[in-house]
Amino acid sequence: MSMFKDIPVDVGVIYEGERIRRNDMQVELGGPTVKEKFELAKVKPMNEIEDGKITIIGPDIKDLKEGGAYALGILVEAAGATLDQGLEGVIERRIHGYLNYIEGFMHLNQRYDIWIRLSKKSFQKGLNSFESIGKVLYRLFKSELPIIEKVQITFITDPAKVAELYPNAMQDYESRDAKARGLKDEDVDKFYGCTLCQSFAPTHVCVITPQRYSNCGAISWFDGKASANVDPKGPVFAIDRGELINAEKGEFSGVNETVKKHTMGEVTQVWLYTAFDHPHTSCGCFEAVTFYIPEVDGFGVVNRSFKGVTVNGLPFSTLADSTAGGRQIDGFHGMSIEYMRSKKFLSADGGWNRIVWLPKEVKERVKDFIPKDVVDKIATEENATGVDALKAFLKDKNHPVVARWVAEEAPAAEAEAVEVKEEAAGTMMPVATAASLPIMAGGFKIILKDVKIYANKVIIQTVKSDKSEKR
Ligand code: SF4
Repeated sequence: MSMFKDIPVDVGVIYEGERIRRNDMQVELGGPTVKEKFELAKVKPMNEIEDGKITIIGPDIKDLKEGGAYALGILVEAAGATLDQGLEGVIERRIHGYLNYIEGFMHLNQRYDIWIRLSKKSFQKGLNSFESIGKVLYRLFKSELPIIEKVQITFITDPAKVAELYPNAMQDYESRDAKARGLKDEDVDKFYGCTLCQSFAPTHVCVITPQRYSNCGAISWFDGKASANVDPKGPVFAIDRGELINAEKGEFSGVNETVKKHTMGEVTQVWLYTAFDHPHTSCGCFEAVTFYIPEVDGFGVVNRSFKGVTVNGLPFSTLADSTAGGRQIDGFHGMSIEYMRSKKFLSADGGWNRIVWLPKEVKERVKDFIPKDVVDKIATEENATGVDALKAFLKDKNHPVVARWVAEEAPAAEAEAVEVKEEAAGTMMPVATAASLPIMAGGFKIILKDVKIYANKVIIQTVKSDKSEKR
């Protein structure tokens, strides 16, 4: 783009989705090893903004040691005659998209969880100052969102200053989220879709409803509405809710049609309130993962910043890999923390009555939204670090899932066995056919199309402990 002639590296949409490995990185900003980091957009009165001003508080990129990870705060302050605070979330989320346009610059996640890497190659080409990064952001904001008349950008790498501003940023996020609470999905006729993450997860569409916050936790229904209004051709768009097909699972005809269209037919059915069968797709920047634990017939939850291994022995990164990529994985669900505050939180699966384990930090954050009769029955890493200990804890506390175990222990019906005779070699008929057959293996869903299965013997048994019967 000619508007970036003075930037030492290329800038364009082709760089979206670019991954920078540790060995190739010059520096890391934010990320899992840095406790306090944030990006925040604020709408200010016109006279408080100096258009185009870029400020760096703390060491600039060229002063940061190669291979290190550093604290970072990004503050985007904007003004415009028709701009109001309702657009702060929209402006803020664009930081992710715009920074990823820069060659050799990777931006992941959002808000208090940002994770940025600059490649050695781009650094060597001369991208060694936040001044250049700021110029790219400034120009993209002004050209893509004309509603912004003035914008100034501040990069903070001084850890003390980041720590000082961090609580204010957290307070701002909470105020935004609180505004969206109270509105119900039934109260609106439009939801909002977002495809910003398709650069990393090509078959992902976030469906943002009043009661199901976006996966990244950065776009509420109000933000979606504001974004679609100011930039109708942008990555956030309105979805006509359409006909309610299944109130319990959260299936709407308009959602199915929109998701099908935006995933080129890969995803045709979405159930918004469940982690089973047709769950909402999971991109890569979800704040947390819900994962099914078959041994206790309940769900664990783990957030991105949880450092240890979860109760099933797997860390967040492994569970996230099994979930991400724009797929619908049965029993795995990428989601925001805010969704856990919703009455529709996995409501089709039992909601909080089905959650058995989560990190203490997350429990503290959402405690006020967990029903009083179950809050003390949900284990954290302090109560259980393995499935056996979890089972004992749940039994001791009489967690609601325990009633499900009792139901399963009821005498199994007589196993019914049906033997299908072997067909003569070469003349076998298929014992099953299907247009599409998903198989789960090693964290992947393999979809076989136009399937015909042949077998020498088929044994059909009633299995009382089958997962599908537990739902
Ligand atoms: S997680 Fe969803 S809402 Fe957030 S940026 Fe990605 S696609 Fe958009």
